[in-house]
Amino acid sequence: MSTTTWLPDLIYVNGRFESGRALVCDDKILKITDANESPNAIRLNNRALLPGLINAHSHAFQRIIRGRTEHRSHHTTDSFWTWREQMYAAANRLASEDIYAASRLAFLEMALTGITAVGEFHYIHHAPDGSTYSDPNLLAREVIRAAHDVGIRIALLRVAYARSGFETEPNPQQIRFIEHSPDTYLKHLEQLLDAPELKNDMAWAGMAPHSIRAVPLDYLKTVVAFANEHSLPVHMHVAEQPAEVSACIEEYGRSPVALLETEGLLSKRFTAVHAIHVTPKAIASMARASAIVCACPTTERNLGDGVVPVDAYFDAGVRVALGTDSQIQIDLLEDAREVEYHLRLQKTVRNVLAPVDDDSSSALARRLFDCATVRGAESIGFAGGKLEPGAPADFFTVDLDDLSIAGCLVDDLLANIVFSLSRTAVRDVVVAGKQIVKDGNHGLHG
Ligand SMILES: [Zn+2]
Repeated sequence: MSTTTWLPDLIYVNGRFESGRALVCDDKILKITDANESPNAIRLNNRALLPGLINAHSHAFQRIIRGRTEHRSHHTTDSFWTWREQMYAAANRLASEDIYAASRLAFLEMALTGITAVGEFHYIHHAPDGSTYSDPNLLAREVIRAAHDVGIRIALLRVAYARSGFETEPNPQQIRFIEHSPDTYLKHLEQLLDAPELKNDMAWAGMAPHSIRAVPLDYLKTVVAFANEHSLPVHMHVAEQPAEVSACIEEYGRSPVALLETEGLLSKRFTAVHAIHVTPKAIASMARASAIVCACPTTERNLGDGVVPVDAYFDAGVRVALGTDSQIQIDLLEDAREVEYHLRLQKTVRNVLAPVDDDSSSALARRLFDCATVRGAESIGFAGGKLEPGAPADFFTVDLDDLSIAGCLVDDLLANIVFSLSRTAVRDVVVAGKQIVKDGNHGLHG
């Protein structure tokens, strides 16, 4: 691959914006050099260049129900659980080409907002009648194809789903997800790991036992043992709703995080998605295991899930990544600001997540931006999220004249971007050195 040099007004390196610097890349970053030494650089006028955003938790197909669940549905109180029935009804109508089209739409929107890699928590495996396709990974591969056609990287986190819940009747709406035995699940996962489209660094696989509710303990242990043996990321929905926590206590006499810890299932490759309804003890367990939390606040506010206690996680040293989850809104910087804003509303104070030992104007923004970049990369098992030699050439630019951030000082630019950027200010997106968005346009759109 040939070498390209990019010369924006400002580059975000080592936690601050620098001017007079150029980025030299092939599919990786080769060096960040003095602009004067770069006569053939591609000039990006009036633009600041930042590492690509990493979306650690996505269900791409849910993009199709956007705006279709914002009404009273059951003449009773709507909740996560009533939303879920509506979402299932949509999921069960999708043919494989619909899964591809819905995923491509979601990934296209992600690309246009500066997201360069996604962790796709994929759980629709079977045909609508519950039968296994002749290729049991047909739908997973359609989702990977959609990411490939848009040009973003994908960690296909293949979901294990065994049951409706503890002492719960099977839900016919879940027949497309279920693989009853861990042997079947692992056989299908191994076939996916062998798929030709996973033989490069644009796509890779991880494991996603759906939740404690959906995967009984023995099954879960088998899944995690395989992940440990193969160093794969493990993602799981944990403590999203109080009912899930009480069901776990009823079945195992322990909360979800306590169960995961006492069974030795937490690790630095484990991401607990949501992890909202947790105790201080659970937070300490997450910290001890160096596990990661993925907050999805635009979805969590939409579903009425609750507030992720990111302040307590930060105090304990737990890493926090971000996800667009239900795709009600695809704007990872909105998720970044929302983790802070939820806590402001809850505690009626400001700058809750600002580090205590750093009062610089961008310290809080830097912390939130790390969640949207490096922490997401760590969560999905990828060495991205930062601009440095040897890192993947994945980045985006913003228009410094966009009205949402125009007129700010360089020292305040990151805080302007994290708290105020309109996503339409994203101008260029490059993944593995290849430009997929130019001047705000993607080849698949407009
Ligand atoms: Zn989810």
